[in-house]
Amino acid sequence: MKASLYLHIPFCAGACDYCDFYSIPVDPHDRRIGVYADTLLRDGERFIRDFGVSCIPTVYIGGGTPSMLGASGIRRLLSGLAGLWRAKPEEITVEANPESAEEAFLLACREGGVTRISLGVQSFHGPSRQAVHRVGTEKVLAERLGLVSAIFGRAFSVDLIAGLPFQDERILLGDIERVLAYKPDHISLYALTLEPGTPLEQRISHNKTPLPDPDTADDLWIAGRDALEQAGYGQYEVSNFALNGKRAAHNIRYWRMENWLGLGTAASSTIVDDETGTGRRITIKPDMDAYIRGSLSPIVEELGRLTLMKETFLMGFRYIEGPDEKLFQRRFGLPIRACIPHTLAVWQDRGLLQAGKPALTAQGILFLDPFLLDVFEEAPASLNIKDYR
Ligand code: SF4
Repeated sequence: MKASLYLHIPFCAGACDYCDFYSIPVDPHDRRIGVYADTLLRDGERFIRDFGVSCIPTVYIGGGTPSMLGASGIRRLLSGLAGLWRAKPEEITVEANPESAEEAFLLACREGGVTRISLGVQSFHGPSRQAVHRVGTEKVLAERLGLVSAIFGRAFSVDLIAGLPFQDERILLGDIERVLAYKPDHISLYALTLEPGTPLEQRISHNKTPLPDPDTADDLWIAGRDALEQAGYGQYEVSNFALNGKRAAHNIRYWRMENWLGLGTAASSTIVDDETGTGRRITIKPDMDAYIRGSLSPIVEELGRLTLMKETFLMGFRYIEGPDEKLFQRRFGLPIRACIPHTLAVWQDRGLLQAGKPALTAQGILFLDPFLLDVFEEAPASLNIKDYR
């Protein structure tokens, strides 16, 4: 079986107020960091054996903040991983945050076979960063961007956020211009989402932090998108932009609902049976201490045909190429066009679908949620279509 690997590193230097990921603030000398890396490797070996994985096309080490592993931690992890595959994956990405992306860490990544770095810049604007308690100063961001570009050339991605407190169009476009000066081959521009229960959401609801209103925030993101497009970074997913030929292979496998194994606390795996259109999701609970003690039982969820079909649409229409048509037909026994003909016709008339394929245009992706509501309403009936010709 072919499956990508995702390794979740739950450590962070601090807690950003908008974040609802599972993460643990640690200092770089915390002894649990090394123990965690060893546990991940043991789990990786077991998962690969149990699922009969013979080919690992991509690896993504994300978090949290993988650069909190430090040079020795990432070296230990990468050399252990190299013992798990027969052929080296085509893409190995490591996420890093500027405050911990030191030269020794980046060099250890390069020596360990990492092919791209994903750097969480988010914004250079001090008041915006401070308002969400994002660690790192403008000076450190510039220094670490310079280091990443010196060590990885153009093989890196930068994350930016639109819609932060105290951010306006001039500030966002200034951030983009600064990032472009380092010539990354990939940029992600996220719209800030207010996750329920986060400190930021609490403060906004008590009027303690100003945020751009929703229309202004949308306009901001669109201004950022246009600047990236003009600079030659084509939008190929809701929040992702790349130079020609530089799309993220690992993420494309998620959007196409291809198999991946998720290792570590709070990670989940998805394994699909292409012949029956069903699958299995295995999730490890978010509890780092229990994970390294080995006392966590994974939660196993069976994905029926309708659930998997909906997820295939949910993920696939985020991608500018749309869901993989051949894979869809193989899994569900009918083409996408036969599954949601009415929705496709309506959205084609609105000019928001690409000609000749079930995929939204870049403008259509702005209306992904209402499009998916139509898809989800129409798709279930297609499961009753027998013997499609
Ligand atoms: S660094 Fe990333 S994972 Fe960690 S708290 Fe901030 S947003 Fe969340």
